[in-house]
Amino acid sequence: MKEKQEYLRKIPAVNDLLATELVNELVDRYSHELVVAGIREVIDNLRERILEADLEKLQNEEIEIEIEQLLKQVKQFLINKSSSSLMPVINATGVIIHTNLGRSLLSKSAQKAVQRISSHYSTLEIDRESGKRGSRYSHVRDILTELTGAEDALVVNNNAAAVLLALSALAADKEVVIARGQLVEIGGSFRIPEVMEQSGAKLVEVGSTNKVYLKDYERAITEETGLLLKVHTSNYRVMGFTKEVELEDLSKLGAKYELPVVEDLGSGILVDSTLWGLSYEPTVQDSIGQGADVVTFSGDKMLGGPQAGIIVGNKKYLDKMKRHPLNRVVRVDKFTLAALEATLKEYRNSKRAYQEIPTLRMLNIPEDELKEKAATLMQNIREVISSDFNLAIRKDSSQIGGGAFPLEKLPTYVVELSHNNTGAEKIAEKLRLNTPPIFTRIYSNALLFDLRTIQDNELPELVAALKNITYGN
Ligand SMILES: *Cc1c(COP(=O)(O)O)cnc(C)c1O
Repeated sequence: MKEKQEYLRKIPAVNDLLATELVNELVDRYSHELVVAGIREVIDNLRERILEADLEKLQNEEIEIEIEQLLKQVKQFLINKSSSSLMPVINATGVIIHTNLGRSLLSKSAQKAVQRISSHYSTLEIDRESGKRGSRYSHVRDILTELTGAEDALVVNNNAAAVLLALSALAADKEVVIARGQLVEIGGSFRIPEVMEQSGAKLVEVGSTNKVYLKDYERAITEETGLLLKVHTSNYRVMGFTKEVELEDLSKLGAKYELPVVEDLGSGILVDSTLWGLSYEPTVQDSIGQGADVVTFSGDKMLGGPQAGIIVGNKKYLDKMKRHPLNRVVRVDKFTLAALEATLKEYRNSKRAYQEIPTLRMLNIPEDELKEKAATLMQNIREVISSDFNLAIRKDSSQIGGGAFPLEKLPTYVVELSHNNTGAEKIAEKLRLNTPPIFTRIYSNALLFDLRTIQDNELPELVAALKNITYGN
């Protein structure tokens, strides 16, 4: 123990490091406080390592106590501290709308719009003709009504906020009638019954889990009813012996009792999904056409734009929402509006939308192309990686994600990588800690790189990251 004390005594003091030339430079670049914090951390680490190490290790000088070494560690600490925490990653998981990885990538035009609006003052809330205060919603209202056929439109922070606002503005202290099979929970703790409670509306469930009829709704309508709600069961399906009420019939019922019919579409798409061989999903236009008074959907799921909650429908009801105090709380910012306007404009020409909007483009990559890309990627990896790694190409399936099309699997090709004596989890961890971080699927102790969600310009970085990984010798 005595000998360990000797090593501990060798640890330099904070002031010893502070007196060096390099630290002076670091203080200029970062800040005195941050540099001192770095020095303290490095010294504390060293002390801990000496206390934990056995004497033999210390005698062999396996633990560096030299000032020069410690300064290097301080520098690394500062580099780590000043790099962004929110950073781009390579998504090799094959999940297109990956909520944890930021959902949708923006189209080129949307990227440009954000860039432009972020570096200038803008017409955010100004009417150019009168010079008076305008509305921030005016920038997307016309394009949204044009594309969906609705009378009016409003955009808020996200779809969860859109649903909360609709319920708060149209049904606080009133009853909301909804089918029992539609009490959806989606990721991130959004549950329809809880949102309803938050809004002050009272939930009235009708029907059974698998079946609901129009007469169930009609029987539940009283003086207290505020609206009829339909929620798209976006992330699950009730299969087998089932019955739902068509939106068209629900809308007629609403009209008969002068009650608004609100539909939460979840993902919300503007194009026909059957064109890609997917199952039919109601489009926003369909819902408006079938008489929904208010439809809400996300901006960053199948639409492929920025995070936003889009509300379209009858002006009478949207005016109530615009005037509600909660609308100010869930207001969207100018970057969202800029990106959303640009994204929506791509939809004027659906062919263009398929090409320009990354979410739609990734859905539509032909299998041949994925196979070819997988072959090239495998070859490029083979050239830089040691022979302890096994590589193969496999046919597999990608997922759409974001709670959209939960049952659909998109045929894809993946590069499968495994190591003779290192587990897949361990390799995956190294890749996550790479710059840029790389996220993969793991299946049967192998890493799968799904070519569908890897962008072309990311392939060299992916190969470079694998080049740096070594295990064993
Ligand atoms: C995704 C989803 C939401 C929430 O949308 P966010 O934009 O993530 O807030 C609400 N309802 C349904 C049915 C959904 O699928």
